[in-house]
Amino acid sequence: MDHYQHPRNKGLAADPRGYMTVHLKNPSCGDDLTVQLKLKGEKIDELRQDGAGCSICCASASMMVEHLENMLIDEALESIEQFSNMIQSEPFNEEAIGDAISLEGVSKLPQRVKCATLAWQAGKRGLEKIQTERADGMRDVEDSDGTISADVEKEEQTDV
Ligand code: ZN
Repeated sequence: MDHYQHPRNKGLAADPRGYMTVHLKNPSCGDDLTVQLKLKGEKIDELRQDGAGCSICCASASMMVEHLENMLIDEALESIEQFSNMIQSEPFNEEAIGDAISLEGVSKLPQRVKCATLAWQAGKRGLEKIQTERADGMRDVEDSDGTISADVEKEEQTDV
């Protein structure tokens, strides 16, 4: 409830350059969420979220950004995996998901599973896109302060 009333890192960056932006929707509920992330080396330097949705979706997005910010990419992906396990009523590591443990009850509400996982899926896609771009060795831009950025829009434009 606290995360719903006082969402963390809500609102997108005024200048999206240098951020990986992922926009996901959950049509069955009407949740519409955008997640932005910025990496510094292997670390998530900034993680933002914005959008509209039900209380589960909004609270989950707030917990996701708070929990994953400042994690290393691998830690964050592991955390997302554990959250996904929890929501699917599979064995999971409580320590890996932080406050999001409070959403465990959603695993018993099949219609709300997508609401809870939307933000985490967006985070995962963003990280995976950054990893793919880095593997390509093509679109990373190293700024003077060492920030490595990737921009999803560039990818869309160059995919012919
Ligand atoms: Zn929802």
